[in-house]
Amino acid sequence: MDKIIKQFLAEVNQRNQNEPEFMQAVTEVAETVIPYIVKKDIYYGQNILLRMVEPERVVSFRVAWINDKEEIEVNRGYRIEMNSAIGPYKGGLRFHPSVNLSILKFLAFEQIFKNSLTTLPMGGGKGGSDFDPKGKTDTEVMRFCQSFMTELFRHIGPNRDIPAGDIGVGSREIGYLFGQYKRLKNEFTGVLTGKGISWGGSLIRPEATGYGVVYFIQKMLEHQGEGFKGKKVVISGSGNVAQYAAEKVIQLGGTVLTLSDSSGYIYDKAGIDQEKLSHIMELKNKRRARVNVYLKKYPKAEFFQNSKPWEVACDIAIPCATQNELEEKDADLLIKNNCRCVGEGANMPSSPGAINRFTMHKILYAPGKASNAGGVAVSGLEMAQNSLRYNWTREEVDDKLKSIMGDIHQSCLDYGKEKNYVNYVKGANIAGFVKVADAMLAQGVV
Ligand code: NDP
Repeated sequence: MDKIIKQFLAEVNQRNQNEPEFMQAVTEVAETVIPYIVKKDIYYGQNILLRMVEPERVVSFRVAWINDKEEIEVNRGYRIEMNSAIGPYKGGLRFHPSVNLSILKFLAFEQIFKNSLTTLPMGGGKGGSDFDPKGKTDTEVMRFCQSFMTELFRHIGPNRDIPAGDIGVGSREIGYLFGQYKRLKNEFTGVLTGKGISWGGSLIRPEATGYGVVYFIQKMLEHQGEGFKGKKVVISGSGNVAQYAAEKVIQLGGTVLTLSDSSGYIYDKAGIDQEKLSHIMELKNKRRARVNVYLKKYPKAEFFQNSKPWEVACDIAIPCATQNELEEKDADLLIKNNCRCVGEGANMPSSPGAINRFTMHKILYAPGKASNAGGVAVSGLEMAQNSLRYNWTREEVDDKLKSIMGDIHQSCLDYGKEKNYVNYVKGANIAGFVKVADAMLAQGVV
């Protein structure tokens, strides 16, 4: 088996050199899915995974724009249309200086499996730019978004490719992108998700990824006869996903001890309650401040510069910042401090070494493609509401989100149960694969 996996990875690597994040995502899937394919006559010999790792289309384009000093700036924009076997391409846009082809291909590849797990008809895609919204004025962000969309609009559409937000792309950016699309196409359609409530957005979409992660972890805990009440929870990040993961943990009776950003983490031993969290939301979303400004109002908290929160003792860890933020040594620290459960809010935040440690120590570990699928699931519900020209209530959307996260958990159990352990990585990868592979086989070699 090892030989087949190695041969496969060598072939993919040969074609995708200098793309470490993409290879990391492909390796994780190959190691769990190839042993399954080999045992199934319908998939074996069809080169189905080799077809899945090849994007259907990659678009790369120049984004020239003018900053407030009237200087011309140039960024690179991308859209990766990875797989449309089960529905139009769907996946977020990331604006961050680290964005490159490897990162977007890994995200688009993960998105195929994630979207399949939601049970909604959405293919996999991802896009973005190396543009950094940090420190830019609103008008600069608007001009950048308008220039970006002036090219992107040719490649997307409500039945073709429906982008959403991701790191650096929140409601402000989605607004500017939507405005430019509408102007260029002269039509009001659900081409982006994460829209404002008064112009086609869905209730609960901002909360969906964070709430969804916590619903998923709740299912994992329930499966072990436990719950959130009284649990100490360490969260990284302080953006969209981290904020709403923290909110739901608080509502379910857990204690949130940390939040972070790229400058370091805050540790509030007394727990970050709803009032303190509202202050963080104000700092991050309105004032766009660093997380340590929290200490001005809550001086009993501590700030650890350039450090990660995994050194704080906890029962549950929820990484919600970025890829590879939780490495093997961090996993060792968490395990040493008796952490029992890790649920990923971010995409691929745990390195392969960290995942090995979790599996070896039988830690309850949920990969992002399963546990953070709530965001894209509610995006799918936003698309449905746009098509119906109808809005569901907050309760209706939240109930659907809970039920989808429960179904994803069940799919992971169906394919990932081992003796005395649930291998959620294996469960998520195989369950996500089966639906897409069946659709690809039915549609012929295209
Ligand atoms: P935001 O931009 O709202 O927040 C990102 C957070 O992560 C910020 O606190 C940011 O800190 C921190 N961060 C980003 N890069 C780094 C880095 N290199 N090192 C340390 N901290 C970093 O993004 P989201 O909350 O939307 O996304 C977070 C993660 O969740 C990403 O992996 C994303 O792909 C994933 N995700 C998001 C979904 C969504 O619906 N938004 C859906 C599914 C997954 P700083 O402000 O200092 O940069």
